[in-house]
Amino acid sequence: MDLELLEQTLARHGQPRFRARQVWGWAARGAASYEQMTDLPAWLREALASELPFSSLQLQRESRACDGTIKARFATRDGHPLETVLMRYRDRRRSICVSSQSGCPLDCTFCATGRMRFARNLSASEIVDQALHFTRVEEHPRYRSAARGDHGAHGGHPATPRASGQGERAARPLTHCVFMGMGEPMLNLDAVLAACERLPDLGVTQRRTTISTVGWIPGIERLAEHDRPLRLAISVHAAEEALRSQLMPVNDRFPLRDVIDAARAFHARRRRRIFVEYVLLAGVNDRYEQALALARLLTGPAAGAYPAARARPAGGPGERSAAGPRPGARGSSIFKVNLIPYNATIAAGADPYRGSTRESIAAFQAALQSRGIPATVRLTRGRAINAACGQLAAEVA
Ligand code: SF4
Repeated sequence: MDLELLEQTLARHGQPRFRARQVWGWAARGAASYEQMTDLPAWLREALASELPFSSLQLQRESRACDGTIKARFATRDGHPLETVLMRYRDRRRSICVSSQSGCPLDCTFCATGRMRFARNLSASEIVDQALHFTRVEEHPRYRSAARGDHGAHGGHPATPRASGQGERAARPLTHCVFMGMGEPMLNLDAVLAACERLPDLGVTQRRTTISTVGWIPGIERLAEHDRPLRLAISVHAAEEALRSQLMPVNDRFPLRDVIDAARAFHARRRRRIFVEYVLLAGVNDRYEQALALARLLTGPAAGAYPAARARPAGGPGERSAAGPRPGARGSSIFKVNLIPYNATIAAGADPYRGSTRESIAAFQAALQSRGIPATVRLTRGRAINAACGQLAAEVA
């Protein structure tokens, strides 16, 4: 739902300002059309339905994996593709992996999105509409098969959400959001932060929202100054500069040592533990010595290239004023490593990478843990439908 356009449309019809909040409240609770917004005058519902698309995205395809993961492929109104993934867990967590751009300009060599043509940044409404889509999917199981087109004019009969005021605090279906879909969120940070302001109405608090970056330092700095408890994840993937530059060309612009220093400064300012993402590629970055090099990087002193002055703490007694770890501090107080089994992105034979064996992954994890670094292996979800990490890529159907 294009919220700016909504306000303009309502103003054109001489509606009071609270109407926009009313419409948004319905959408956030999972309404699938203006028709369901029963506390709006009937004429206004009709006017909105004819003048304002219910979503800024058109659903083009939905794929389902037997582990419960759903991948949605959308097109923006001007025809650019993007994908979003909903991951469902047994403990009732529902995590959406959203895209911040259509395509990505950063060309990481292990990522299918990097091989797509980069189109443009997504607007805040286009980001929020990805989450709204899955709110509807989860609120109304019957909507799932009827949502194609996603205009609210579909042929299904989803249950009507409660009007505002009734059950405002009822549990919402989505619980977590990660900006790990298509694109580099720090290159579109205004829209990403604006979307993050809306997500709590859908049940996704900012404490449960993670912004993942390749290490775009200006973005990390901005996020450190942003007065919200958003989480930060950094894609590292190699502890050696040369290897990381091969895997992620952006490393030539923002070298790893500076990225890690910026992350430490973020931690000093915000006191939020930082996730380190590390995809394991057989024979490339999964050796025991490479695990130890990663441990040294995360536990060692700040490289010093990054200006300590930027690490201004958030204030309050006892806050530190420098970028480096506390004397004697271990990386475990600042970083947590997520090891990601590699998901093939192109046909075997053409793919330069292979995933590490279970044994290599376990040995890598054990090496980190033995150095005091918390490390978990990410559950692979949605691989069968190309919805797992690094696999998102789409062309308009
Ligand atoms: S890993 Fe992220 S930053 Fe790198 S190409 Fe893929 S989407 Fe872009």
